[in-house]
Amino acid sequence: MIAEIISVGTELLLGQIVNTNAAYIAKKLAQLGINTYYQTVVGDNEEKLIQTIKIAEERSDLLIFIGGLGPTPDDLTKETVAKHLEEPLILDAASLENIRYYFEQQGREMSSNNQKQAVYFQNGRFFKNSVGHAIGTYLQKNEKAYLLVPGPPKEMIKMLDEEIVPFLRSLNENKEQFILSNTLRFYGIGESTLVDQLASIIENQTNPTVAAYAGSYEVSLRITASGPDDASCKERMEKMKEEILAVVGDYCYGEGEDNSLANVVETILVEKGLKISAAESLTGGLFQSTLVSVPQCGQVFPGGIVSYEEGIKRDVLGVPEEILEKDGMVSEACAISMAEKCLEMFRTDLAISFTGAAGPDSLEGNPPGTVWIGISQVGKESFARKYRFMHDREGNRERSVQQGLDLLRRLLEGK
Ligand code: ATP
Ligand code: MG
Repeated sequence: MIAEIISVGTELLLGQIVNTNAAYIAKKLAQLGINTYYQTVVGDNEEKLIQTIKIAEERSDLLIFIGGLGPTPDDLTKETVAKHLEEPLILDAASLENIRYYFEQQGREMSSNNQKQAVYFQNGRFFKNSVGHAIGTYLQKNEKAYLLVPGPPKEMIKMLDEEIVPFLRSLNENKEQFILSNTLRFYGIGESTLVDQLASIIENQTNPTVAAYAGSYEVSLRITASGPDDASCKERMEKMKEEILAVVGDYCYGEGEDNSLANVVETILVEKGLKISAAESLTGGLFQSTLVSVPQCGQVFPGGIVSYEEGIKRDVLGVPEEILEKDGMVSEACAISMAEKCLEMFRTDLAISFTGAAGPDSLEGNPPGTVWIGISQVGKESFARKYRFMHDREGNRERSVQQGLDLLRRLLEGK
């Protein structure tokens, strides 16, 4: 089955809003193993929308329309698709009652144009909207399928997750074809290198399929398997995973769509019963903020310090004056001292430090992107590593955090 996403809205064409809905739906379709070959954006215009539908019908099986289900005259998606297909729309009484009740609670009168938010294809089905008014609808006709969802992201996401994804999955089940997917996540290897090293696996893929995606400073591989049941899909995926990890396993830090390096590191720290603190210069608290974005941080992270200025490194953190004078702030000695002082100050099991030149200017003769990451652990020798990143200021700071997390992961996993 080939899907096409048709986003309806002049504000999308004008660049006033970003098409986050299409990205969200595309991701879900990929997880379901449904191929999306085309995405289209069209304005709130009947004639152009009909043209778009005709083109999509030539090349796709499932047409997913986003937006334009509202009460105002420029919301014309349902009416236009219905007109094109010569299919009647019908009112869902319960949804209309919900809208009426909402207006009553607000002490307002429901206007007649709100009615059209409660219509759906008489020969199809509807999807209720539990956080808004416009219901979604689905119809199959002439071997093509038409799915219409509301534009407000909150409404679209809830409807998709709760009703539409299970529905699309059940369509697949009817064909006795299960589809499962898993994401392997990599850090420290570029997308092109990864794909290159896995060339023979990727070229010969049929089932499961393997696709690479570049994220921010990391790469994901999605393995999608189909089969008659859950177990056979899992078996296929597992076999493929082993083949992949045999080649590039060293860079794989975890699995799962919502996973992250921070989550992996904190999970290991929880398992080992260890606590970590951080002393940050160029990252300015970004490392600590990244730790805190993971819910389990309370078990592993008591606190840390942002010591950006030289004086704070010396007077608050306690980095010796002679290190700052002789080696400078962007140095191995400074990174190690920052981590050791932080370990003492916060009484944690390990401490990490970041110091360097974020850019755009050089610092103490070090080109932008030069970063030292230091690690100190109770009862073990401290060390620091030097990196040279080539991003802009923000990129160098983000990359430093990711690199620090990967360094910790490898250390904690004994690599
Ligand atoms: P409403 O009942 O609110 O009018 P609707 O189904 O008619 O909903 P639109 O009018 O197309 O949807 O969009 C409503 C709002 O939803 C837009 O102003 C915009 O903020 C957001 N929105 C619409 N389409 C998208 C999209 N593709 N990506 C992100 N946001 C979107
Ligand atoms: Mg609208």
